[in-house]
Amino acid sequence: MIAGIDLGTTNSLIGVYEGGFPSLLADNDGNRITPSVVFYPEEGEPLVGREAVRFRSLQPERSITSVKRLIGRRIGENGTEQISGRKGAPAVITIGDRVITPEEVSSEILKKLKSLAESRLGTTINRAVITVPAYFNDAQRGATRRAGELAGFTVERIVSEPTAAALAYGLDRLADRSKVAVYDLGGGTFDLSVLQLDNGVFQVLSTHGDTQLGGDDIDEAIAVLIRRKAGIKEPSITVTSRLKEAARTAKEILSTAEMTVVRLPFLEENKSLEIPLTRAEIDEASAPIIRRTRSLCLRALQDAGLESADLDQVILVGGSTRMPLVRSFVKEIFGREPNLSQHPDESVALGAILQGAILEGNLQNVALLDVTPLSLGIETFGGLMNVIIPRNTTIPAKAGEMFTNAIAGQGGMKIVILQGERELASDNWILGSFEIPFSPSPKGTARVGVQFSIDADGILQVLVRDTSTGAEKILEIKSAVEVSDEAVEAMLAGSLEHAFEDMDARIFTEARLKAEEMTPSVHDALAQLESEIPEDEVASILRLTEEVTSALGSKETKRLKQALISLDEATQGLATRLVEKAMRT
Ligand code: AMP
Repeated sequence: MIAGIDLGTTNSLIGVYEGGFPSLLADNDGNRITPSVVFYPEEGEPLVGREAVRFRSLQPERSITSVKRLIGRRIGENGTEQISGRKGAPAVITIGDRVITPEEVSSEILKKLKSLAESRLGTTINRAVITVPAYFNDAQRGATRRAGELAGFTVERIVSEPTAAALAYGLDRLADRSKVAVYDLGGGTFDLSVLQLDNGVFQVLSTHGDTQLGGDDIDEAIAVLIRRKAGIKEPSITVTSRLKEAARTAKEILSTAEMTVVRLPFLEENKSLEIPLTRAEIDEASAPIIRRTRSLCLRALQDAGLESADLDQVILVGGSTRMPLVRSFVKEIFGREPNLSQHPDESVALGAILQGAILEGNLQNVALLDVTPLSLGIETFGGLMNVIIPRNTTIPAKAGEMFTNAIAGQGGMKIVILQGERELASDNWILGSFEIPFSPSPKGTARVGVQFSIDADGILQVLVRDTSTGAEKILEIKSAVEVSDEAVEAMLAGSLEHAFEDMDARIFTEARLKAEEMTPSVHDALAQLESEIPEDEVASILRLTEEVTSALGSKETKRLKQALISLDEATQGLATRLVEKAMRT
C-alpha cells in the first residue's frame, strides 16, 4: 500500500487508496489535519502536530514552524533570513545546543503521519508519494525525499502540488480535453499552474509562483494591525508569537463571519486585551499581499500561450483560498467564478493518494506529466548559457548536445551546470560543475557529448562523455545548489527586466568570439598569399580587420556585427586561393 502525503508548510495530511476510494486518515480525535509544527523539549523525543502547537506559545524558541521554507535551502537564499551562519552553507536550526537540519524536522512530521496511518490501518506503511510546490528546485525536492527516507518511507514519487490537486479534481469530472488553472495559496507558498487534461493525461503547460508568499504573511499583516489597535509598542518574542496566533484565528473566523473579537488574556503585565476586528479591516491589511499573486497568474497564462477565456476551470488549492477576499481576487483575475467543489485543504493529499494508486496499478489510463520550472543548461565558451532542457519542458525529459574544444591542445573541459533564464552564464544559478579530461587535440576536434535527463521526481542527472575515448562522468543533482542568492521568481523577473540587454550581451559575445577567431586567421591567410594578392586588396582587408578590432573595443554590438559582415565578404576568396595554392605546391 502506498500512502499519499501532503507535506504542507502549515498543515500536513496522509491517506491511502482503499476499497476503490482515496481516503484521508484521521487521528484518534478525528483530526485529518496535522499542524506542521515540531516542538523540541529539553529532554526526550520531539512532539509533533497539535501537541507541539500547545507548547509553541509557551516556548516559541523550542518550536519549529514553516520548516518547508528552509528545506533544501542555503544561507543567503530566500527564506533563510532568520538563520545565521556562513553564506552558502546549508540552512540548519539551532535549539539550545542541538543543531537540527530541516530534513530532520520534516522527517519528524512524516514519522507522525506514518504512525497515525499505521495505527488507523493496523498495518505497516513503508511506501509513500509526497507532494511539493511546483516551484521546488532539485535541492528542495531531493531534501524532501531524504526527509521521507529518514522517516522510514521508500519515496515512490515526488509530485507537484497543483498536479496532484488537478488529479483530485479532474479524474472523471472534466471533459476529455480541458485546460485548468490551479491557484494554490497555502500557508507559505503561492503557485499558479496551467494544466491540460487530454484523454486522461495531465500535463502542466506552465507554472509561476512565489515560494515566500502565503497565509503566514497575511497573519503577520493582521498581527501588526492588532498590535496597532491595542497600542502595543515593543512586543516580546512571546507576545509577538501570541499576536500572530490570534491573528490567524481571527483571519480564519472572518472567512465566514463579518466581525470577531480578539481575546488575549494576561498578555503583558497581566493585562488582558479584547480587540474587535472586522472582515473589512483584515481585507484592507491583506489586500497588498494577495494582490502580489496577480502578475504571477498573468505570466503563467502567457507562458502557456492562453488567455483566461481559454480556461475551462479555475481550481482553488491551499487553506488561504478560503478567504473571501482571495476568491474575489481570483474571480477578478480570471474573469470567472472559481470551482469550489473540492476542499481546498484536502485536494493535494487526495491527488497524492491517487498518484500512489496509479503507481500500484489500481487506476489505469491516467498518467501524470510535470514540467521543469526553470531552464537547465551548461556554460559555453565565452560565458554564455547554453540551454539543454528549456523551462516548462514536460518531465521525465532527456536531451543532449555535442560540444567541442574551443582552444587547441586543451586537456579537458569544465562543465558548469546552470539553471535559469538569463543569457549570460554568470546571471544564472550554478547547480554543480565538474571536469572531464580528454587527450589534447587540435581546436574543434574533441567531441564531448553532454546529456541531461530529469526523472519523474524532477531530479537531474548529467552525463558527460568523451566520444573518442568513451570516458564518462555522471553527476546527479539532488541537493548541490552551490550558489543561489536569488529566488526563482527573482530569476524570472530578472529575465524579463533584462531581456533586451541580455540578448544584446549574447549577440555581442557571439560576435566577439567570431572576431577573435577570424582576425588571426585572416592575418595568417594574407601572410601565406602575400605575393598573390593585389596590394590595394591587402590594404583594404587590413583596414577591415582593424575596424573589427576597433569595433570590439568600442563594445558596440551593431558596429561589430557590421564590421564582421564586411570582413567576411572581403575575405570570401581567400580560402579558395589558399586551397589552389596548396594544390599547386
Ligand atoms: P495550507 O498550507 O494549504 O495548509 O494552508 C494553510 C493556510 O491556510 C494558513 O495560513 C491558514 O491560516 C489558512 N487557512 C486555513 N483555513 C482558513 C480559513 N478558513 N480562512 C482563511 N485562511 C485559512
